[in-house]
Amino acid sequence: MPPTTEVTCLDDDCFLDMFENHYTYDVPDDHSVPDLVCPACGGTELDEIEL
Ligand SMILES: [Zn+2]
Repeated sequence: MPPTTEVTCLDDDCFLDMFENHYTYDVPDDHSVPDLVCPACGGTELDEIEL
């Protein structure tokens, strides 16, 4: 499976600290974390966390 990524929301007002993305094999090659939106605040200021 593609690697699971940990994503954090950079919005200071957002109550969501981080969440995990679990991708399928269908994830496009050009997909990146900035393409996502925060599920809590809908913000697009997201950053991938390197574990
Ligand atoms: Zn957020």
